[in-house]
Amino acid sequence: MRWHLAMAVLIAQQAAAGHSMAWPNGAHAAIVLTYDDAVSSQLDNAIPALDSAGLKGTFFLSNVRQADVERWKAVAASGHELANHTLNHPCLAGTFEMPPRQQLEHYTPESVLQEVGQQNVLLTALDGRQEHGFAVPCGQTLAGGRDYLEPLRRSKLVTYSRSVDETDDDLQRDPSSLDLMRLPGRGFTSPAGAAQLIEFAEKAAKAGGLAVYVFHGVGGDYLSVTALDHSRFVDWLAAHRQTYWVATMRDVVGWIAERSGRTAVPRNEKPDRAVAPVKAAGGPIVTVESGKLKGVAETGASPIRIFRGIPFAAPPVADLRWREPQPAVPWSGIRQATEFGSRCMQQPLFSDMMFRSAAVSEDCLYLNVWTPAKLDGAPHRKLPVLVYVYGGGFMAGDSSEKRYDGAALAKRGIVVVTMNYRLGVFGFFAHPELTASSPHHASGNYGLLDQVAALAWVKRNIGAFGGDPGHITIGGGAGSPGRLGKAAR
Ligand SMILES: [Zn+2]
Repeated sequence: MRWHLAMAVLIAQQAAAGHSMAWPNGAHAAIVLTYDDAVSSQLDNAIPALDSAGLKGTFFLSNVRQADVERWKAVAASGHELANHTLNHPCLAGTFEMPPRQQLEHYTPESVLQEVGQQNVLLTALDGRQEHGFAVPCGQTLAGGRDYLEPLRRSKLVTYSRSVDETDDDLQRDPSSLDLMRLPGRGFTSPAGAAQLIEFAEKAAKAGGLAVYVFHGVGGDYLSVTALDHSRFVDWLAAHRQTYWVATMRDVVGWIAERSGRTAVPRNEKPDRAVAPVKAAGGPIVTVESGKLKGVAETGASPIRIFRGIPFAAPPVADLRWREPQPAVPWSGIRQATEFGSRCMQQPLFSDMMFRSAAVSEDCLYLNVWTPAKLDGAPHRKLPVLVYVYGGGFMAGDSSEKRYDGAALAKRGIVVVTMNYRLGVFGFFAHPELTASSPHHASGNYGLLDQVAALAWVKRNIGAFGGDPGHITIGGGAGSPGRLGKAAR
């Protein structure tokens, strides 16, 4: 009976939306935050705001400054999307002040495509990826009087193209009917404030649609919104993450393509995380509850497969800080699982702790799997599983520590898992107000709940790695209570 009611509500919601394409986790709308022209105020203001809210944006780069190269690399490595906006940003004469050679009248479709191809080379150098999306500079596609968008589509140089003309009607459109080479986008500049930014998202939620924001300067440069309006809006999105799926354009395009059965453009086989794409090219693929993962294969006398940085819970940031861990956000396409996730917030307390994770971050709920299983078809037998919980007195430690590396045990026939859990004040802060706002009427045990969530994840998903969910052993150092075995059952 309950099921019928739930279905009825779902169907009613879809009818209200006018189409049947659903967003991940039952979100009412998909939101993409895009930033054009590679201006420095985005690095100074927009990215810190996104990072503190745990959200990812899409950055269309043109005219990249030498001084910003390392910062853009870091932006890509932390999960934001870098995309193509041509090398020199050609627009029609009179749109803004520019030298004649950058006026679109002096281009041909061929020379625009040549620039796009050259910008792809730069982007690959920055993010290690082979495929990139595109945004049309100034929304103008007449190069020397001829339209370049169709030649660009045929060239397959880019996986999608975004424009700058999204209307309220576009919010009503069935996302599966969108032409990926004519994706919408709506520009926002001051005096549009946080209220206008929020209003556009709310309209999208009502229609079940896709809202694509286009920003230029954020608290600086030109065509700007204020840094305060931007960060208020971003924080508001983070506080309403049940309603809004905020994702990169790459992820949204992947989601749409998968659900509408398209494959030609985009070929969204590239991972979410911009790391070591070459190494993972032939990596093993498994499907877990939130999506597909591609790991690395280690060959030799006892070959094993390694999957690193698997999210077992949502990033515990913004309104999820000091809350029990929430389910991981599903992804589309194949997520790269070749590098360790960030370690949880901590001071360098113990000199014998050698971390292999790239950074420290509140966004740290990741685990790693080492398995000897071949993963090519049905497993012959289920292998025993060891879950190892690092020590460090609840103040330090990381699943990337070399001494917990699972390779040696995996080579002896065991599936090994190491997991992160929140530490210090982020994992164990107790306060009467937190207790009052908790459904469990408790606070201060977030790090332990992370361990329980990881164990429950292992129980549900380890079969995909050849492990036996009925045969899990838990081990660990100081910081891994023996009672966890009971909690996970
Ligand atoms: Zn632009």
